[in-house]
Amino acid sequence: MSSVADHLDTIHAKIAAACERSGRIAAEVELLAVSKTFPAAVIQEAVDAGQTLFGENRVQEVLGKIPQLPAHLRWHLIGPLQSNKVRKILPHVEAIHSVGTIEIAADIQRIATELDLRPLVYLEINLAEESTKHGFGLKDLPTQIGKLLSMDRLKIQGLMCIPPFDPDPEASRRYFTQLRELRDHLQTTAGCLLPGLSMGMSHDYAVAIEEGATIVRVGSAIFGGR
Ligand SMILES: *Cc1c(COP(=O)(O)O)cnc(C)c1O
Repeated sequence: MSSVADHLDTIHAKIAAACERSGRIAAEVELLAVSKTFPAAVIQEAVDAGQTLFGENRVQEVLGKIPQLPAHLRWHLIGPLQSNKVRKILPHVEAIHSVGTIEIAADIQRIATELDLRPLVYLEINLAEESTKHGFGLKDLPTQIGKLLSMDRLKIQGLMCIPPFDPDPEASRRYFTQLRELRDHLQTTAGCLLPGLSMGMSHDYAVAIEEGATIVRVGSAIFGGR
């Protein structure tokens, strides 16, 4: 068994254990294998082990890899997207996890209309209001959600966050809780369904699952250090 296959096995077991602890079923949690910086040959090892869902954070990089890998794979963009790349990427990805401004949402809406696409979208929230991170401010979103929901081409799945890095996974818990509570609040006040919570990375995905993650974005724990 390749080490990538080994790592995937371990992660699936940890996902199952975190679901068990929190009274959830493992089928509610998707594993997004974050393959950024790794070449197609390494990604193929994960494909051979049964993984079909992959995340990348750069448009050029994912567009270069897609043609080298089987056509049945599903790709998600998890890094910030610039307006001038929307047209290029949209036909090739199932979801964008990093929609953090009204402007980029409007660009996606406009181009998805032209191309007749209905991308899945996660709204990225900058929970700690870090100047180095992208995303909607915690206070902005409630006033902007109406406008976002009116963009009929966007299948808004839910919310996404990247907590400030702390090697202790427990340090992420309050951010994950906060994202879930914000989601609950928006569902009530805006009367919409936001089932998805994209949260949790290699070091803290188990905590994220305990707090309600529906998709965890795991890179180095599968593919190794970058
Ligand atoms: C790189 C990246 C990940 C995965 O990080 P790991 O710590 O390697 O699991 C998850 N989410 C985003 C947005 C990333 O850029």
